[in-house]
Amino acid sequence: GKGIAVFTSGGDSQGMNAAVRAVVRMGIYLGCKVYFIREGYQGMVDGGDNIVEANWSSVSCIIHKGGTIIGSARCKDFRERAGRLKAAKNLVDNGITNLVVIGGDGSLTGADLFRQEWSSLLDELLKNNQITTEQREKYKSLQIAGLVGSIDNDFCGTDMTIGTDSALHRIIEAIDAIVSTAYSHQRTFIMEVMGRHCGYLALVAALTSEADFAFVPESPAPENWPKKLCAKLEQERNSGQRLNIIIVSEGAIDRNGDPITAEQVKKVVVDNLHQDTRITVLGHVQRGGNPSAFDRILGCRMGAEAVMALMEADENTEPCVISLDGNQAVRVPLMECVKQTKAVAQAMADKQWEKAVSLRGKS
Ligand code: ADP
Repeated sequence: GKGIAVFTSGGDSQGMNAAVRAVVRMGIYLGCKVYFIREGYQGMVDGGDNIVEANWSSVSCIIHKGGTIIGSARCKDFRERAGRLKAAKNLVDNGITNLVVIGGDGSLTGADLFRQEWSSLLDELLKNNQITTEQREKYKSLQIAGLVGSIDNDFCGTDMTIGTDSALHRIIEAIDAIVSTAYSHQRTFIMEVMGRHCGYLALVAALTSEADFAFVPESPAPENWPKKLCAKLEQERNSGQRLNIIIVSEGAIDRNGDPITAEQVKKVVVDNLHQDTRITVLGHVQRGGNPSAFDRILGCRMGAEAVMALMEADENTEPCVISLDGNQAVRVPLMECVKQTKAVAQAMADKQWEKAVSLRGKS
């Protein structure tokens, strides 16, 4: 059977364990040897105990856990060819020529580069007498399938990333908890949620919590936002509402591209309306806790599909990302999605917000 390794890289997200579990079990079911690589690319570079064969029961009792049981890390070494050479040696030593990478666009970019270099890395290892001619031939091609784990839902090519739904659950729980105290005391609450240049979490949180106002990066606030905000809050209070909720995405900006912070929003409310106003920054609470049913199933389906893709792949197959399209798990070209995702980030950086939204929408 084929040698498949699964690893998680970059930021963690809920549902990654479900994906790891599905990769291991689907792989074993189809007669493969499946390995964990611990601590992302760092474990691949360091080798040793970081690369271990998994069995059916090593993934028991993990589907309900947040984060990733096999660890995730950022890894400088893998950005250098010398690091990738070490990683290649470790994979060959373990008979691994198939990778399931679970991470964000950075991790997927690294995987694609690694695959492009694979042949020349093996040549170098052979030249250094670190592998044999037989190994060079036997392990001549590397196959890759990517899964996107991210709470931000910031990747082009999939309707949902693994972890977004759970993060929304955390946010909604927190808002619901705050609403009861805000109601009692007639307060205004400002909630800062994650999402660097993707306002998905903020927007959906605002819609599902009956928030009065939301600041999201894709729709920069006009210059007169303080006036608009105050008018809206006042109107709601005058119509009998006892509390106000404002959602601020961590990437919120105005039309100049300058950040809008929860502190700024609070100052506007306090100075103009004299409302009792509190800020809650949810931070890593959003990444925590158990994955939702949706993220568990998403991880399961994507993990199983990744193994299927690898089973069918050969050296001529382009690397794919497993994505959710409607309610279907499908394979899409990895580098096209990464390129599109980077184009969105660039458009945001260039303050071309409409372009960013349309680029994201097309994928
Ligand atoms: P994410 O995968 O969540 O976007 P990062 O961008 O930090 O997170 O990438 C995670 C890891 O992937 C990095 O620490 C690095 O080891 C690897 N990586 C990212 N980009 C590249 C690249 N261009 N070349 C090689 N490795 C990369």
